[in-house]
Amino acid sequence: MEFRVLAETFDRLERTSARLELMDILASLLARADASNVDKIIYLLQGRVAAPYTGIELGIGEKLAIQAIARAFGVNADEVERLYKELGDLGSVAERLAGNKKQMTLFSQPLTVERVYDNFYRIATASGSGSQELKLRLLIDLLNDAEPLEARYIVRIPLGKLRLGVGDATILEALAIARTGSREFKERLERAYNLCSDLGYVAKVLYEKGPEAIQNFKIVVGIPIRPALAQRAQSAEEIVSRLGTCAAEAKYDGFRCQIHKKGDKVWIFSRRLENMTNMFPEIIEGTLKQFDAEEAIFEGEAIAYNEETGEFYPFQMTIQRKRKYGIKEAAEEYPLKLFAFDLIYADGVDYTPKPYKERRAELEKRIKKGDVLDLSEKVIVSTAEDLEKFFESCVERGLEGIVAKDLNAPYIAGARKWAWIKLKRSYRGELSDTLDVVIVGYYKGRGKRSQFGLGGILVAVYDKDEDTFRTIAKVGSGFTEEQLVEMKKILDEIAVPHRPARVVSFLEPDVWVEPKYVITVTADEITRSPNHTAGWDGKRGYALRFPRIVGWIRSDKAPEDATTVQEVVEMYKQQRTVITGDENA
Ligand code: AMP
Repeated sequence: MEFRVLAETFDRLERTSARLELMDILASLLARADASNVDKIIYLLQGRVAAPYTGIELGIGEKLAIQAIARAFGVNADEVERLYKELGDLGSVAERLAGNKKQMTLFSQPLTVERVYDNFYRIATASGSGSQELKLRLLIDLLNDAEPLEARYIVRIPLGKLRLGVGDATILEALAIARTGSREFKERLERAYNLCSDLGYVAKVLYEKGPEAIQNFKIVVGIPIRPALAQRAQSAEEIVSRLGTCAAEAKYDGFRCQIHKKGDKVWIFSRRLENMTNMFPEIIEGTLKQFDAEEAIFEGEAIAYNEETGEFYPFQMTIQRKRKYGIKEAAEEYPLKLFAFDLIYADGVDYTPKPYKERRAELEKRIKKGDVLDLSEKVIVSTAEDLEKFFESCVERGLEGIVAKDLNAPYIAGARKWAWIKLKRSYRGELSDTLDVVIVGYYKGRGKRSQFGLGGILVAVYDKDEDTFRTIAKVGSGFTEEQLVEMKKILDEIAVPHRPARVVSFLEPDVWVEPKYVITVTADEITRSPNHTAGWDGKRGYALRFPRIVGWIRSDKAPEDATTVQEVVEMYKQQRTVITGDENA
């Protein structure tokens, strides 16, 4: 496929503010793709060259891009910088300069998707001495043959500035439409995606081998599966009335780890399925020593603890371990323990369809005593009183709460279902749980705040059914002055000129941003309001009363991992029951 087709599609996607149109544009692009290029097209749409779990990240610095543009178009770097100041984006600079170039079509070869992808892949994987020069040459090679619109994206993609706002669910739906003519097939594709976390690969299998191959998709050790997620409850009574006799496990507040083992090789994937293997050497060693299987996939929560006292550290300490450098020192200062809580695969057996009690029994058999791996604490309860007691004992010990598990439920990859229900400690006057919301815009701030350039943010929750982000609050509290400044800087990097197509909002912030960052907020209450679109029923949506941020941007969550509209409705109802309960008392 000619790269021009992709560049034109990017341009159209960038311009639209309507989700349906976004879907049409994508589906017609994918209808033109074939088995040889569909994976590449999908990666490029997401500004990538491979699935996130591979750790292959495409990225170049602005300096390199400026040099490449200067050399490709025969101008000096100062001129590129000047244009950058004027236009505000290096992609537009390249587009302008490519437009000025004369006789460019005389010897140039039209760019294909394959060639652009190959060069980007080589840029992403170049390392060692001479890699900067190689990246520069690969970029210049593309720019030499680029038409103006193509040049815009050839620069934006590796800079990470492609702001198309297409998420995984949108792509899955577009693939279903493009290949089968209806949305129905999306569910099957989603299942395959949940088992391999690689959209490009799922698309390739669909195009190459057809729909049956998607039905028969299998788990592979070394390729992460998308994690099962928990619903939330307001009380022990609610959990027991839903599940009856169930398991209750301590809820540790650390990193979720999905660990894969094959012989003496170990992989560790985060909740977002990034490859974190190198960050946690003690977990690799612990797995090799303590996990009894030739091949396995299991899950647990890693948490830093004080070796002297055996106490768990709060999340802020554990997060210190998420780093690329100084790993050895950090591992000595904040050693991790891993509390295993589920088994996905072991020695040829896919455990995901088996009930929790069987998975857990097998997990218990396979973990040997040792320093790093342990089983999550678990009790079986039949009454709300017993569950409450266990919950209280967890909270007293500084844990976050509990996760109750349906004894008979399978492992449901990539979905938030009632098979797991969390109950977290709550604070007086606050909601029983925080919300993870997506930042979709910001306000410049008046009065005292105008000096920071940011007075508050507009935030949204995720509507899973329609794959959109619907606003729920304007948040201005909870920020320190430094955070206001930092937040503005971060958001300016992802600013977009109009409301992104997947954002549904009545409010118009001063600056719109690509829905990218998730931040945790709390509030006094969830209320109904005509100003926000979350859960809109034609008259009112849901809103947060006195929202404030707690913590900072959650790098472990993608926008689609944010709290959903459906959960907000559930939280609102639970809050009502609690209030009504009080009134009756
Ligand atoms: P949340 O992130 O608040 O939705 O809570 C769900 C998360 O709790 C999971 O993704 C795990 O990272 C974490 N967690 C901690 N302990 C457990 C446990 N025993 N079982 C399942 N998840 C747990």
